[in-house]
Amino acid sequence: MSQATQIAIIGAGIAGLSCATSLQKAGFSVTLFEKSRGTSGRLSTRETPHWQCDHGAQYFTARDAHFAAEVERWVKAGVAQLWQPNLQVYDGKSFTAKEANLASQTQRYVGYPKNNAPAKWLANRLNVHTETTVIGINQHAQQWQIYSKEHGVHAHHFGAVLLAIPAPQAAALLANVATSASQISASVVMQPCFALMLKLKSILPCEFDGLFINHGPLSWVARDSAKPGRSNQANTSSETWILHATSQWSNAHVNDDKEAVSDLILDEFMSILQRSNALQHSMNVESKQLHRWLYADCEQYLSSVYHYDKANNIGLCGDWLNGGKVQGAWLSGFKLAQHLIDENKQ
Ligand SMILES: Cc1cc2nc3c(=O)[nH]c(=O)nc-3n(C[C@H](O)[C@H](O)[C@H](O)COP(=O)(O)OP(=O)(O)OC[C@H]3O[C@@H](n4cnc5c(N)ncnc54)[C@H](O)[C@@H]3O)c2cc1C
Repeated sequence: MSQATQIAIIGAGIAGLSCATSLQKAGFSVTLFEKSRGTSGRLSTRETPHWQCDHGAQYFTARDAHFAAEVERWVKAGVAQLWQPNLQVYDGKSFTAKEANLASQTQRYVGYPKNNAPAKWLANRLNVHTETTVIGINQHAQQWQIYSKEHGVHAHHFGAVLLAIPAPQAAALLANVATSASQISASVVMQPCFALMLKLKSILPCEFDGLFINHGPLSWVARDSAKPGRSNQANTSSETWILHATSQWSNAHVNDDKEAVSDLILDEFMSILQRSNALQHSMNVESKQLHRWLYADCEQYLSSVYHYDKANNIGLCGDWLNGGKVQGAWLSGFKLAQHLIDENKQ
């Protein structure tokens, strides 16, 4: 195998895993480096001994034919399912149905039995080094060396390195590397999102399983335990909810005390529930956890899909290059892989 087909991918979210899967299928040797304990990045699930909750991406849609075929594979493998929640929209005054009838309904999918399942399934077939935070990449004699916080310099060198991580994290890694990739990643601003997970000791008597909110500090709330396969999380006397704050509100509170942020988000949720007549008294919260996504989404997404600097053998993929969302991330990784496969044939 030539050196050009030895590829390092930094980041095992959906973009990195998609890219690695296609490259490996085409005969490339691929090594993924992931800083977290598990794979899946922002399409992920918080798991505790007593409950689980999807605290990043909530669901995914498949409008592109390639991604639709991939989602079909996930469904067949038993790691994704259609989710048909009762969705409403709240504009600060009234609650309305999101989709008037079944015919107009968007097909929404979730990981089964949790949102990190598709990523885990992909990662099982790949060579992934988890708990490996890449802190430096260095080109020497046309080969890339990888340095991580936990393990120092990696034993193998690579013909190409692909960064499948949020733009600001890519820009930081590329700060001392003279490549077009460093300018592109430095040009993109990403925004935070606070996610509050609630385990309740009671059932909220509200009609919606998911609520799009167009007013105030929150953007979305959902009954996580109502998603397919989460039935062990919900019973007649308990359920799990996820509350997302808007990027604007999250930005304004990004460095605030976590307890204070949780309280403000919870108060806002309670006042929305009161306005929907779903809450007469206080809520019975068994436990809550706040997560701060520093790089949740972009102020403005790029539409270049991916980037590859042939002179330096360095590539970029991720949602931020392709309009955002799980579909955008998966396609970005897939298209970067196709580019390398085509180039290798020439
Ligand atoms: C709160 C929230 C709600 C969302 N809701 C939806 C939704 O409903 N529908 C939808 O389609 N999309 C949604 N999204 C967006 C969706 O989650 C992302 O578009 C998609 O998951 C991005 O995938 P990615 O692979 O590009 O990046 P990521 O998932 O961010 O993956 C990057 C990976 O790189 C790792 N990493 C970073 N730096 C390093 C390093 N130095 N060394 C090693 N590893 C590193 C990270 O740990 C991570 O695992 C949401 C996102 C958030 C945060």
